[in-house]
Amino acid sequence: MEPQAESREESLADLVISGAGLSGLVTAWRCLSVNPGLIIDLYEISDRIAGDHTWSFNATDIAPELRDWFAPFVAHRWPDYEVRFPDRRRVLPIGYRSGNSVTLRNAVAPFIAAGRLRVHLGRTKPDDAAPHIDATGFALRDDEFAGWQKFVGHVIRTDEPHGVKRPVIMDATVEQIDGYRFMYLLPFSDRDLLVEDTYFSDDPHLSENAIGDRIERYIAGKGWNDYKTVRREKGVLPMMMATDRRDDSAKIGLGGGFAVAATGFTVPHAVEVADVIAQAILRNGPSAVPGAVADFRAHHLRRETYARLLNRMFFRAADPSRRYVVLQRFYGLGEGLIRRFYRNGLTARDKARILIGKPPVPVSRALANFSEKAFIRRERAKGPPS
Ligand SMILES: Cc1cc2nc3c(=O)[nH]c(=O)nc-3n(C[C@H](O)[C@H](O)[C@H](O)COP(=O)(O)OP(=O)(O)OC[C@H]3O[C@@H](n4cnc5c(N)ncnc54)[C@H](O)[C@@H]3O)c2cc1C
Repeated sequence: MEPQAESREESLADLVISGAGLSGLVTAWRCLSVNPGLIIDLYEISDRIAGDHTWSFNATDIAPELRDWFAPFVAHRWPDYEVRFPDRRRVLPIGYRSGNSVTLRNAVAPFIAAGRLRVHLGRTKPDDAAPHIDATGFALRDDEFAGWQKFVGHVIRTDEPHGVKRPVIMDATVEQIDGYRFMYLLPFSDRDLLVEDTYFSDDPHLSENAIGDRIERYIAGKGWNDYKTVRREKGVLPMMMATDRRDDSAKIGLGGGFAVAATGFTVPHAVEVADVIAQAILRNGPSAVPGAVADFRAHHLRRETYARLLNRMFFRAADPSRRYVVLQRFYGLGEGLIRRFYRNGLTARDKARILIGKPPVPVSRALANFSEKAFIRRERAKGPPS
């Protein structure tokens, strides 16, 4: 069901959100669920809410107390997933989930129907709108320094069952090109499969046609000869290596800095930030939102300090063609540690465990990239990319 965007302008809204993508809609959904009297105006520059996306995450990335509430977003669930490297193949019993634009639209549809979420399509917010949350997506800033995750994905429908039983979140047995390269397979059914070719690269440029050809060769190599491509997607996401961002704005989502540094993904933090905002409104009203977002961002950037260090090791210390060795080693570590890594819950012992041992990166380059402050000074001295 596609909710119809109707606006009812009788009263002033309590809150205004710009951007009806993942973070804007999850925030609206959570705020309206927690605060029964609240009315939100949502401005979306395009002609529909929620775009055309699939968003995946580890089941354990979402706080236990929010999982039931977030369940309507989930369109597909798997009990485990697999990783494949030249010298390691492993199934991890970590639940994997995926939602999409349809489930997200359906989650907010009752609030639109009730007139509590008033959607304004093809429009940006009025200048005097307040309190206001900015959920308009990512834009490069001069106080953030990132490596890049870029990908092209084809959803195919095969004539015969494709035989992929579980998500393969990294198949790094493919030729290593442009940094760390892996295929990502998401089996939506026994004939529907997302085949995505991903690169952890120094360069954000996406060669869509060349990558599309590689996807087709990978598909042919698997023997899936009779299929049709039903959907395509692409993305270039920042993987933060360093930041000295000081920002009091109520900007959320990828543009607000609320991404998992290790993956560039945002679902876990979209849910977390949505709840922080909803609870702030419950306690102190909508005017408390900008302060709550800014405080939570400062907390988030602090807790991601170690993840940014790992990204500096990955992008600046490891040889591009040998980056897969870093991940191959990581996925040999304990299952609990891997879970904690993705939900930002590493212990001091975990952190030491990841770095200690035979380093898969040259020690001199690792040491040269250890300090975030020194890294930022060097990057600034280089000047902006030409
Ligand atoms: C193809 C793809 C696949 C991804 N897969 C995953 C995944 O599996 N798991 C995961 O966690 N992350 C994934 N990500 C990363 C991240 O979760 C998404 O990019 C996510 O959509 C970011 O959410 P957001 O709310 O910050 O921005 P968006 O979802 O991009 O939403 C921004 C919205 O703001 C609108 N907008 C822009 N400017 C204005 C304006 N001035 N006024 C009003 N509206 C405006 C845009 O039209 C858009 O609707 C993926 C990204 C891409 C591109």
